[in-house]
Amino acid sequence: FNIPEPINEPVKSYAPGSPERSELQAMLKEFRAQQVDVPMYIGSEEVRTGNKKPMNPPHDHQHLLGHFHEGDASHVEQAINSAMGAKHAWESMEWEQRAAIFLKAADLLAGPYRAKINAATMLGQSKNAFQAEIDAACEFIDFLRFNVKYMVEIYSQQPPVSGNGVWNRVEQRPLEGFVFALTPFNFTAIAGNLPTSAALMGNTVVWKPAHTQIYSANILMQVFKEAGVPDGVINLIYVDGPTTGKIIFNHPDFAGIHFTGSTGVFQHIWKTIGENIFKYKSYPRIVGETGGKDFVIAHKSANPKAVAVGLSRGAFEYQGQKCSAASRAYIPSNMWAEVKKYLLEDLASMKMGPTEDFTNFINAVIDEKAFDKISNYISEAKKADGVEIISGGNFDKSKGYFIEPTVIVTQDPMYTTMCEEIFGPVLTIYVYQAEHFEEALELVDQTSPYALTGAVFSQDRYAIELATKKLRNAAGNFYINDKPTGAVVGQQPFGGARASGTNDKAGSMINLLRWVSPRTIKETF
Ligand code: GLU
Repeated sequence: FNIPEPINEPVKSYAPGSPERSELQAMLKEFRAQQVDVPMYIGSEEVRTGNKKPMNPPHDHQHLLGHFHEGDASHVEQAINSAMGAKHAWESMEWEQRAAIFLKAADLLAGPYRAKINAATMLGQSKNAFQAEIDAACEFIDFLRFNVKYMVEIYSQQPPVSGNGVWNRVEQRPLEGFVFALTPFNFTAIAGNLPTSAALMGNTVVWKPAHTQIYSANILMQVFKEAGVPDGVINLIYVDGPTTGKIIFNHPDFAGIHFTGSTGVFQHIWKTIGENIFKYKSYPRIVGETGGKDFVIAHKSANPKAVAVGLSRGAFEYQGQKCSAASRAYIPSNMWAEVKKYLLEDLASMKMGPTEDFTNFINAVIDEKAFDKISNYISEAKKADGVEIISGGNFDKSKGYFIEPTVIVTQDPMYTTMCEEIFGPVLTIYVYQAEHFEEALELVDQTSPYALTGAVFSQDRYAIELATKKLRNAAGNFYINDKPTGAVVGQQPFGGARASGTNDKAGSMINLLRWVSPRTIKETF
């Protein structure tokens, strides 16, 4: 098949004086000067209900970005009807046409929309320029381009044996019904990928983003429209979770959910689907990436500086609001003093403040609920015995939801912040006796119900081998001598098992296979 061979979109540096930096700064200024009025998109309609909700940057309560129009149960119904109405024409379309639409979307994001989507992610979700670039631009562009490649590979797989009067073939049908995409705030790329990957495979979609991501979701929708996604193929609604869930999960045409979000919500959804199972035409596809309590373990042979950098970047980029963020670390006693020194030096260099100032590495956490939850863990740690806060520990929500990158050292490897997902800029470290690496590996495996990402640092190949074997089920993405964040589409398919999700690997053929239902045809001549 003749499709453009994907390569990873090069990451721009936004260095002082670079053209991309000036363009992005101009876009931020333009966005700051306007207030947007964001509709829902159902079929060909832009739906403005008049029930307007304000959008503010998490780092600046004083600044109003605009409003979005919240919908109700009737809009969920309309979105489903619209998706079902668009289905026949969309799934009958040649795959080349669908591919062309999403390849064009990738090109629009790489070019004319790059500054827009990055600026919207910076303002709406409080990401710094670099974090926005690797997410909203590069990762989403990669998802779109690589998914087209995987789609073609899926369509070209056929049974190996035919002949002697028989022709066997497999037809990859879209699911019979609509797909529901329920997407998170923390990656604009994931918000974009969940509806588009299902749509690429011929499905029509109802998309409900996190309310804290609507500002950039609106730009994504404009890109999809301009790229030629037909009306009704992706329907974007803002309706509260319980109202939406009640209608979607009771609908006979509900064919699957593509989810990224919290473990609790996913488990609740799974249960609801189970309770309604007799109502559906087919068993719905349930694809979800949920929480993490991601680890870093160093062996006594590790390079202390590499460990410290792995921790500071892995734990604190985007304020630790990545499912993959390093949030518990196991450091051997022989190198703790050195790791600590480098870590504190690195943290001291991280400035905190609004995203519009490009020298700020740390910005705000997403909203008040997150702020309260995270700061509560820190307050509890301040009071706890055998626990010390060695960096950060302050938080202030007067101007924006700011929480200092906080490092907790505990003598108890089962202390709360070693076990529970916090989803914020909090790293907890346990220093183990350097000779007891194997016992420390046991701890890593047993401490948390999650299994998303993890990293081992070591210069000793036996230790690397031991960690790789012992932690086989502790992470779906395992890193050797690197931080546990920043998986790249086409390079490290992403996802985990246990309480971290169904491990259907975003950005891979495995994921796209969940959005088709194959039919086998045997013809006898
Ligand atoms: N894929 C991202 C990474 O590797 C994390 C995705 C998430 O937070 O859900 O850092």
